[in-house]
Formats: sequence, C-alpha cells, structure tokens
Amino acid sequence: MRFELDEDQREFKALLRTFVDKEIVPVAREWEQSGRYPTEIVDGMKEMGLFGITVPEEYGGLDLDPVSFALVFEEIARGWMGVAGILGSHSLACRLIAMHGTQDQKDRYLPALATGERRTGIGLTEPDAGTDLQGIRTTARLDGDHYVVNGAKMWITNARYADPLPVLVKTDPQASPAHRGMSVLLIEADTPGYEVTKDIAKLGYKGTESCEIALTDVRVPVSQLVGGVEGKGMQQVLSALEWGRVNIAARSVGIAQRAHEEALAYAQQRKAFGQPIADFQAIQLKLGELGTQVQASRLMAYWAADAVRRGRADGATGMAKIFCSEVALQAAIDAMKVHGGYGYSTEYEVERLYRDSILMSIGEGTNDILRTVVAKSLIKGETRVG
Ligand SMILES: Cc1cc2nc3c(=O)[nH]c(=O)nc-3n(C[C@H](O)[C@H](O)[C@H](O)COP(=O)(O)OP(=O)(O)OC[C@H]3O[C@@H](n4cnc5c(N)ncnc54)[C@H](O)[C@@H]3O)c2cc1C
Repeated sequence: MRFELDEDQREFKALLRTFVDKEIVPVAREWEQSGRYPTEIVDGMKEMGLFGITVPEEYGGLDLDPVSFALVFEEIARGWMGVAGILGSHSLACRLIAMHGTQDQKDRYLPALATGERRTGIGLTEPDAGTDLQGIRTTARLDGDHYVVNGAKMWITNARYADPLPVLVKTDPQASPAHRGMSVLLIEADTPGYEVTKDIAKLGYKGTESCEIALTDVRVPVSQLVGGVEGKGMQQVLSALEWGRVNIAARSVGIAQRAHEEALAYAQQRKAFGQPIADFQAIQLKLGELGTQVQASRLMAYWAADAVRRGRADGATGMAKIFCSEVALQAAIDAMKVHGGYGYSTEYEVERLYRDSILMSIGEGTNDILRTVVAKSLIKGETRVG
C-alpha cells in the first residue's frame, strides 16, 4: 500500500501550488473584502484548462482522475476557497452532461464548457427544499416540443455566468415516489422567463456569487432534457454529487492546510514574554494537533477520491466530507487562537478561513444528513470499516 501521489499527480500539484501562490494568495484578502470579481484568476484557470477537469478528452477536457480532481480543489482553496467555488459546480455539471447527456447535448456544450468559454453551475436547491430535494416545487409541463418551467431556485452558485444551467424539475409532480417524476433540464440563460433575481449576501464564500433564480413560464425545448428520458433526474444529480463531496472534502483540506501554515509561521514570529510564542507548550499543543488533523484529513480526502475511481462510493465520500469539513473549521478556529487578537482582524488571513470553513459542513449535503448516508451504507454492507 502506498500513501503517495504518483509522479503526474505530484507535478500537477506543484503546478497548481505555483499558480495559487502567484495569482491568488497575493490578492485574495483584498479582493474578498472589496467584493471584486476575480476575473484575472478565472482567466488563469481557463489557461490551465481547469474548466475542463471533468470533461472527457474527446471534447477537449482534461478528464482528471478523482485524486487529481481533488488536488485542484485542495490547492485553490488553500489560496481562496471562494474561487474554488467557480470551478466546483461547473465541474459537477460538466460531469453530469458527460455521463448522462445525449450525444447532441455533449457535442453542443462540452467543448465550450471545457475551455471556460461557456460556464455553468447546478440548480437544485429551492427556497423551501434543500436537503429534501424530492420536495422541490419547480415543475416542467410538456407543451408540444417544449417544457414550460415554473418555480424558483435558491443559493445557485455561478448563476450569473451559467449558460446553460442544469435545473432539477418535476416533469411528473404526481409521481410516487417523487424522484421517479424528476428530471434535469439544461436551461440557456437567454431563455425568456429565466431570471437571476438576486445575489444572496453571505458570511463568506465570496469571489463567486450565489443567487436566487425565478423561472416563469420558461419554454425549454425537449431536446434540453438531460439524457432525453424523463424521471432520471435524481439519479443523474446524485451520481454527480459524489464527486461533489470529494470536491468539498478537498476544499476543506486546503483551508486546513492554510490555517496550519498561517499558525505555524505566526507562532514563530510573534514574541511574548521575550520569546517566540511557538516555544510555549500551550501553543505547541495547538500546532501539533493542527498538523496532525490536517494530514489525517488529507489522507481521508485522497482515500475517498480513490474510492470513487474504483466505483460508487457514497460511504467513503460521505465520511471524508464530514471529517475534512469538521477539521477545517477546527483548524481555522485554532489558527485564530494562535494569532491572539490579530486573528480577529480582517488584516490577517485566518478570519476568512474561519468564515469559509463553516460552509464546508453545509454544502453538498449537510454533515448530519451525510452521517445518515454513511450509516445506511454501513448497514447495507456497501461500506466496510476495517
Ligand atoms: C453558499 C452556498 C452555496 C450554495 N450553492 C448551491 C448551488 O450552487 N446549487 C444548489 O442547488 N444549492 C446550493 N446551495 C444549497 C445547499 O446545497 C443547501 O443549503 C443544503 O443542501 C442544505 O439545504 P437547506 O439549506 O435547505 O437546509 P435544510 O434542508 O432546510 O436543513 C436545515 C437543517 O435541518 C437538517 N435536516 C434536514 N433534513 C433532515 C433529516 N431528514 N434528518 C436530520 N436532519 C435534517 C439539516 O442537516 C440542517 O441542519 C448552496 C448553499 C450555500 C449556503
């Protein structure tokens, strides 16, 4: 058993680290606080082909293995987690189209999505339904060769750039169980009645917008139904969300890594009682624990990513997402404590890590829901511990 990245993965990680240190780290704090959109960073990510990480090579993508996919999110989140959000739901939507789209949908969208010329996101959550996706109210009624879509979506990241946006709808609202009547439609941004109505003000996760979308009598051609078959929407979405949990686990590792780096550096530079605070055992306990937890979470994230490479891995990805996100939050808190009063200042990085880390336990399924997913997987014997 080897606990190391292979040579390609190591080189890729080093390339990402260089990009992040040069293009993201120097501007993250200022741009995050001013609300400036990170256009130049997006351009850099386009140049590196990062918008195509889940797009098959035949459509111009990089088609990364899941561990390399995790490295992208780990390294970018180490610089600025919000920017990782620009690639997050985009990558999941690309994967959804690549796995489940019709040939025409793949030909039409994947090449431009791979370069970042087109961008996308994923429209699941509604004002009254997040965890309970079968409780969504957005409907798509067939009318000739179009669906007529009505409803609302909430918290949709990248909404102002997404074109097309995969939107989860009910094509048969009476179906029982409800998921049998659910489908995904690829809605183009200029379709009349599709309107991004509001950017939601957030604690963190800045650098990418999360929006409300109103859907009012939106006429969507039937050719936009993902896979061309109704009733498959939930399965299509759930298979993409598995990579989503790897993405969040990896982002959490990136946040925790940065918290560790900031705490370690600060502890050696800050003096109290005539000596660096790193010499105090109380600080050493924090640094030792932080480093241990970061490394454990990294192994967990890579292990889950590798499990995805081998097949369906709800249990492993759920475990990694839960563990890594809890570590990220604790790491950010501990790094703030090591910084003393300066940890609370917006002139230091650690307060952003704290604000960003909390989202990691909410997005891609709350940790409590994932605990039940992990438990079910254990009970069914699909995941084994030991
Ligand atoms: C910044 C941000 C960006 C987002 N981006 C996107 C996006 O791009 N696309 C998208 O579709 N969504 C997005 N979301 C939505 C996100 O996926 C949901 O917020 C999340 O799934 C939780 O849903 P909810 O907010 O409706 O909470 P709820 O489902 O209302 O949950 C509230 C609480 O109840 C608990 N709970 C719910 N059901 C159960 C149960 N059965 N058993 C035990 N506990 C339960 C939850 O764990 C939670 O603690 C984003 C959210 C945020 C905050």
